[in-house]
Amino acid sequence: MKIAPPDSAVDTLLPAVADFLAAPKMVIGGENVASASGKTFAVYNPATGKELARVPAGSAEDVDRAVKAAQAAFEGPWSKMLPAQRQGLMLKLADLIEAHGEELAQLETLNNGKSIMLSRLIEVTASAEYFRYMAGWATKITGSTLDVSIPIPPGMRYQAYTRKEPVGVVAAITPWNFPLNMASWKIAPALAAGCTIVLKPAEETPLTSIRLAQLALEAGIPEGVVNVVTGMGEDTGAPLVAHPGIAKIAFTGSTETGKLIGVQAMKDMKRVTLELGGKAPMVMFDDMDLDLLGVAAGIGSFFNTGQTCCSGVRIYAQSGIYEKALEVITNITRSLSIGSGLDPRHQINPVVSARHQAHVKSCIARGIEQGAKPMICATAPEDGFFVAPEVFTDVRQDMALMQDEVFGPVISVTPFTDEDAAIRMANDTRFGLGASIWTTDLNKMMKYVPRLQAGTVWVNSHNIPDQNMPFGGMKQSGIGREHGAGAVENYLETKSVCIAYR
Ligand code: NAD
Repeated sequence: MKIAPPDSAVDTLLPAVADFLAAPKMVIGGENVASASGKTFAVYNPATGKELARVPAGSAEDVDRAVKAAQAAFEGPWSKMLPAQRQGLMLKLADLIEAHGEELAQLETLNNGKSIMLSRLIEVTASAEYFRYMAGWATKITGSTLDVSIPIPPGMRYQAYTRKEPVGVVAAITPWNFPLNMASWKIAPALAAGCTIVLKPAEETPLTSIRLAQLALEAGIPEGVVNVVTGMGEDTGAPLVAHPGIAKIAFTGSTETGKLIGVQAMKDMKRVTLELGGKAPMVMFDDMDLDLLGVAAGIGSFFNTGQTCCSGVRIYAQSGIYEKALEVITNITRSLSIGSGLDPRHQINPVVSARHQAHVKSCIARGIEQGAKPMICATAPEDGFFVAPEVFTDVRQDMALMQDEVFGPVISVTPFTDEDAAIRMANDTRFGLGASIWTTDLNKMMKYVPRLQAGTVWVNSHNIPDQNMPFGGMKQSGIGREHGAGAVENYLETKSVCIAYR
C-alpha cells in the first residue's frame, strides 16, 4: 500500500505492521537472523509506554558476522557492479520505500512516537527522495588528470591522474530521533560510492532500519551489502566501531558518544564523520516579519516534539519586539495539542522513551531550581512518555537550560538590546550545528550570517535541511558534512596514479 495523505489519522494498523512486529530480526548477509546468543530486548510504544516488540540483542559475535558479510559483498558482487547498476538498484529501493510507505510510517510512529504526518513526510518521502538524489551521484564520481613536474630520471616523462575508490565497509551508527531518515542519510551515499554497510540503529528505534535492509534485498541489492545489527551501544556499537574490518565510521548521535567514537577511530586511523548535538539559537531583530513567529515556534522549535538536533531552542528577541514575540510564542505553545502520533492533529507527541522523558523533566525542574521562569506549566497525558511543552524566560547564559541539550519541547526566550551582544550570546555555546537570524534588513543579514558559528545558518526560517545543502556541525557539534556531493566524498578514498613513459 502506498503512503496515505500525510494528514490522515491511522484508524487501523496494516496487517504487514502486525506481522513484522511479531518477530523482527537482524539482517546479516541477506538473511533475517536472531542474535548469536538468542537474547532479545524490548522496544516500546512511547504513546502507551507498553512493549511493542522484542528485537535481537546483538553482541560482538553478531557484529563480526555482519562485518564479514559486508567484506565479502564488498570484494564480491557489489564491486563488480557498474555505477549505473548501483544507481538503478538505489532508484528501485526508493520506489520500494514509497510502495511500503504507509507500513514504514506506521512502524515509525509506533516505535518512535512521532506524528504520523512526520513519519510519512520525513521518514518515508524524504528518505525515498534521498536515495533518488544520492543514486544520481553514483554515476558522477570523477577523479582528475594531473600535469606533474617530476624531473628524474632524465628523459622520463610522466602523467598522473586520481581515482576515487570506495573506502570499504562502513559502520553506520544512528540515533532515535529520525530513525529511517538517519539510516538513509548514511546508507544512500555509501551505496552511491560503492561501499557496503553495517548499520547499528538506536536501541530505542531499530524497526524501520531492519525493514529498510529487507527492502534493499527486495530491490536486488546483493546480500551482505546492507546489514543491520541491533543492540545496545556498548554491546554492538562499540565492537562495530573497533572492528578491524571497518574502514569508515559514520555516526550521528550525542556529542558524548561521538567523542568516544572519535577517539577509537583515531586509534585505528579509520575515516570518521560525526554528526552530534546542538543548542541552536534563533536571533530575532526588531525589523523581523512578525507573521513568521508561527513558523519559528512550530517548525523552528517544536518540530518533532523538539527532538531535533538543530531545534531553535534559544530564542533571542530584540527589545522592540520582545514582548510581542513572547506573547505570540507562548500563545502558540499553549495551543499545541498533545497526544498520540497516530492522530496527526496532535503537534506534541510523546518523547522517545521513559529514560528520555525523565531527562527532559529533570532539565525543566533544574531550570526552575536555578531561577528560570516557566511560562506555560501545562500537564501532559499520564500514560506514555509525554512531556508538556515549556517556554522559559529569565534564563541566564550560564544556566544548564541555556548550555546543555534538553532535546525535547523546551525553549527559552531572552531579550537583547545590543545586536553584537546578541550574536555573542548566540555563539556562547560549545555547540555549532544550526542557527538562524530573523530580519527583513539585507544589510543586517549580510553582516551577521558570517559571524554565526554554525554549520547551517537559516535566515527567516529554521530547522529545514535539504539533501543538496551540506549539513553538519562546527565546534562540538561534529566533524564533517552530510548531503550534497561532499557526502559521497566521505565514502571515497583518493588514489594518485603516476604513469612514467618515454
Ligand atoms: P546517543 O549518542 O546516545 O546514541 C546514538 C547511537 O550511538 C545509538 O545507536 C547508540 O546505541 C550508539 N552508541 C551509544 N554508545 C555507543 C558506544 N560506546 N559506541 C558506539 N555506539 C554507541 O544519542 P541518541 O540519544 O540516540 O540521539 C540523540 C542525540 O543525537 C542528540 O545529542 C542529538 O543532537 C544527536 N543528533 C544529531 C544529529 C546531527 O545531524 N548532528 C541528528 C540527529 C541527532
